[in-house]
Amino acid sequence: MAERSLATVDPEIFELIKAEERRQADTVKLIPSENYVSRAVLEATGTVLTNKYSEGYPGRRYYEGQQVIDQIETLAIERAKALFGVRHANVQPYSGSPANLAVYAAFANPGDTVMGMGLPFGGHLTHGWTVSVTGRWFNAVRYGVRRDTGRIDMDEVRELALRHRPKLIFAGGTAIPRIIDFKAFAEIAQEVGAVLVADIAHIAGLVVGGAHPSPVGHADVISTTTHKTLRGPRGAMLLTDSDEHAAALNKAVFPGLQGGPHNHTTAAIAVALKEAATPEFKAYAHQIVANAQALADELLARGFDLVSGGTDNHLILIDLTSKGVAGKPAAQALDRAGLEANYNTVPFDPRKPFDPSGLRIGTPSVTSRGMREPEMRQIAAWMDEVITALAKGDAEETIARVHAEVSELTAKFPTPGLDA
Ligand SMILES: *Cc1c(COP(=O)(O)O)cnc(C)c1O
Repeated sequence: MAERSLATVDPEIFELIKAEERRQADTVKLIPSENYVSRAVLEATGTVLTNKYSEGYPGRRYYEGQQVIDQIETLAIERAKALFGVRHANVQPYSGSPANLAVYAAFANPGDTVMGMGLPFGGHLTHGWTVSVTGRWFNAVRYGVRRDTGRIDMDEVRELALRHRPKLIFAGGTAIPRIIDFKAFAEIAQEVGAVLVADIAHIAGLVVGGAHPSPVGHADVISTTTHKTLRGPRGAMLLTDSDEHAAALNKAVFPGLQGGPHNHTTAAIAVALKEAATPEFKAYAHQIVANAQALADELLARGFDLVSGGTDNHLILIDLTSKGVAGKPAAQALDRAGLEANYNTVPFDPRKPFDPSGLRIGTPSVTSRGMREPEMRQIAAWMDEVITALAKGDAEETIARVHAEVSELTAKFPTPGLDA
């Protein structure tokens, strides 16, 4: 008897997946942490590898039947090592947050002092923010950006590090539009004897594509998700050159924190790493940055206020204060116009975190669809029209018109993984 398809077994979920496919295809996706994976990555994700338990590491498992899985995980590890140029890779963390927790588990004990960028300045929750267990279980010290430049204040980082002597220093974040100076962080970490963790979740694809300096050779440990600019499945990796750090990280991931690895994800990570090693991916990474700069230039020309005055990478942080609109209503109006962004705090934001002054956008997804500088200028124009109309309190007509124009544009750019 033929097995019944998803559409037959669960038409409700099937239809919702189809609806999400249409939504993703019809939207100009500007959320900088998101991307479209390739059909190949999508195929690897939806496989029988999800059936298998593989606690342990290749060659050292706690279950039998690993003849195939060991080969898959070894391929993923070897590709990660080659692509980033490191000696050790752990590809098992379930996602970026568990990967960072594994770093804490490997190198610190509850109550120890750790240091990271404050969430309102662009850091990640897991870098010691108050509502995260990393902020509750550890004594977290937080650095920010300079008021005048909007850039990381390296003087403050050094002062705080010397004063508090953290065990761990996190460099990286979720709303940093500028190049991160890993060498400067490494010098400070060395001075105070801290383990430097470069969290390159957002920029991993730019790093391997040569569009952002690599932390390799500077950071003791590199933590990254695989699903942002890297264009892989939802997952994460921990990389290091040190045998000692690698042993501590491996023990922290399993058995310290996790059980069986998600083998279907491991396979999809291997596929994404293969794709990221191609010349096409290098061009893709550089186009992400070129697109972000074109988008930033057009927004600046239209009177938008950008944190740090622009961007070096895939991400733009807009302070909407001068436009007379808050971040949340702006993000909601843009979403209704088919432009998907997210509201965000800006440094020194006078507003509340759930109703902040900023908007965070980025170009990884639109670049994956093949859009280039002319489309970026068009997107900036649409954003300006919607936000200007919103400020005047009369945005309905503009939203409807822009949405129609957005649909015309998205129809011309195939959605990876969806349009065969
Ligand atoms: C996205 C992100 C994470 C967390 O990843 P999840 O997969 O959402 O848990 C951690 N650190 C940084 C800097 C990130 O941008």
